[in-house]
Formats: sequence, structure tokens, C-alpha cells
Amino acid sequence: MPAHEGTRTYDAVIVGGGHNGLVAAAYLARAGRSVLLLERLGHTGGAAVSSRPFAGVDARLSRYSYLVSLLPDKIVRELGLDFRVRGRTISSYTPVERGGRATGLLVGGGEERTRRAFAELTGDEREFGAWQRFYGMTGEVARRVFPTLTEPLPTRAALRARVGDEDAWRALFEEPIGVTVEENFRDDLVRGVVLTDALIGTFADAHDPSLAQNRCFLYHVIGGGTGAWDVPVGGMGALTDALADAARAAGAEIVTGHEAVRVDTDGRTAEVTYRTADGEGVAAARHVLVNASPRELAALTG
Ligand SMILES: Cc1cc2nc3c(=O)[nH]c(=O)nc-3n(C[C@H](O)[C@H](O)[C@H](O)COP(=O)(O)OP(=O)(O)OC[C@H]3O[C@@H](n4cnc5c(N)ncnc54)[C@H](O)[C@@H]3O)c2cc1C
Repeated sequence: MPAHEGTRTYDAVIVGGGHNGLVAAAYLARAGRSVLLLERLGHTGGAAVSSRPFAGVDARLSRYSYLVSLLPDKIVRELGLDFRVRGRTISSYTPVERGGRATGLLVGGGEERTRRAFAELTGDEREFGAWQRFYGMTGEVARRVFPTLTEPLPTRAALRARVGDEDAWRALFEEPIGVTVEENFRDDLVRGVVLTDALIGTFADAHDPSLAQNRCFLYHVIGGGTGAWDVPVGGMGALTDALADAARAAGAEIVTGHEAVRVDTDGRTAEVTYRTADGEGVAAARHVLVNASPRELAALTG
């Protein structure tokens, strides 16, 4: 559509400065495209930001999301991100009362310590053996599936062939994860610990026919090809700041305090209207990437 007089035209206007918007801005700018990224808040990072919660203490903590797993090394390398993570020794501790006694399940601190924790909780070695077999299986799936996250989306058949283990395919991709967890684990607390990765952040239950819980589970166990979740040094905001730096260094224009309020398009080009504290502005674009919710996209396009 014809741009208004004085309106600057970009190859891409990106709505939303969360980590996905920032990654898109960095790659497009590095490919020589002109990029404008609009963020409505006063800072970039979206739900992956840090804050200094303690007055007078110079410590930055993750505010919402707090652990890194799904960020491919390939992106860290290609964008030259100045960003570090540290491993965790302990991954979880779940307190419980058994026989009137306060106890719990500690996962982590080395294989021997975890084995002892399972034995103390369940009274035998069976449950820890099941745990090792189950996570051996998810680890193998992780090694095969994670590289596809930075490749063109494979078909279902291609992914199944890549997984190359029909039992694992059935357990993780075909049947509700609740069935698999019940088949493999006897102890209700252990079942709950395994299911955390399937239910956190979803509104599905363990046996939901939509399999949304399986998708959630896979995202939690395939990161980095191992399923490990690391702590970002400086909080998650250190990562999104590094992404914003990489995008700016490549020439992307990033503006905060700019809320996109409308996208008009004739299907070939578009105009994005945005609001700032000082009024409204318009940017013309050959492509618009909306890195916000589907509801926001629907509102923007009317
Ligand atoms: C409590 C919580 C804990 C989590 N824990 C983890 C974790 O430990 N590890 C992990 O990897 N993931 C975690 N996640 C998920 C992770 O935070 C998200 O997957 C990630 O933030 C999504 O990034 P995004 O860039 O797609 O979107 P977002 O981070 O949602 O960013 C979208 C951005 O768009 C902006 N925006 C929206 N509408 C407009 C508009 N009209 N104009 C301009 N700007 C607009 C928003 O202000 C926001 O900055 C957690 C999420 C939550 C809520």
C-alpha cells in the first residue's frame, strides 16, 4: 500500500521485544534487512527479564522465566552473544509426609545421592530404576529431536523415523503422558515430580486427549539435546540484553515505549501505527512480524 508522506519504510517491522522478537531482529539485520522493533514497555525482554528486587543490593534476578534450556548454542555462536549459564546440582526437592513422618524427594546431587533419596522415600530400588530407564529414553529422544528446532519443521513421519524408537514414540508422541507415567512409576509422589514438566504452564491434565501436556513435557526434556536446565548468570535479562545488543550492533532499530496499535495491509505491504507518550506514528513495512499473542495480533489487524 502507498506509504504516507514522511513515513519511513522498513523491510521488517517487528511488534514485541521479547526474546523471539529480538532474535528475529538480529538475524534479519545481519542479513542486511532494515528492521524496526516496537516494544510497548520501557524495556525489552518480555517475560524473560531481570530486576533488582533488593534495594541497595546490586543483584539482578530473573523476574518471570528463570532457567535456560531451549536456546540453541548455534544461535549463541552465530549472534556472538556475551552470555553465560551455570549448571545446577539440585534440580528439585519435593516435601511429603509418609507414615506421619516429614520427608521428601531430593533429585540431584549426583546419582548415588538421588538413588539414596528414592530408596529412603519408597523403601526399595525399583522406583529409581524406573526413573533411570525413563530419563534414559527421554535423553535419547532429546539428542535426536533437539537439532530439528533450528531446521525446517519435519513432517510427523520424518520425526518418527528420526526418533527411531517405536516405544518412545508411542509413550511421548501418541498417548497421553499420564498413561506412560502410570505404566512406569508406582509412587504417587514420583509420578507428580515427573508430571511437573508436562503440566506446568498448561491448562491440560495428564490424560488430556489434546496431548498439550505431551508437547509441554517434550519442551521441558529436549533442551540442548540433554534436557538440562541451566541458571543464567545475571538473570534471564542478561540474555535478552545480549540479544538486544546483537540486534542493535547489526543495525536494527529498537524502540521501547512504542505500542503497536494497528496493522493495515493490502496483503503486499503494510503500515504499522504505534503510540508513544508523545502521540502516534506510522511505519511502513514489507513484512510485519508479530511477536505477541494471537489475541494481540487479532486486535492489531481488526
Ligand atoms: C512465570 C513464567 C515462568 C517461566 N519460566 C521459564 C523458564 O524458566 N525458562 C524458559 O525458557 N521459559 C520460561 N517461561 C516462558 C518464557 O518466558 C516465554 O516462552 C518467553 O518469554 C516467550 O518469549 P517471546 O519473545 O515469544 O514473548 P514475550 O516474552 O511474551 O514478549 C512479547 C513482548 O511483546 C510486547 N508486546 C505485546 N503487544 C505489543 C504491542 N501491541 N506493541 C508493542 N509491544 C507489544 C510485550 O510487552 C512483550 O515485551 C516462563 C513464563 C512465565 C510467564
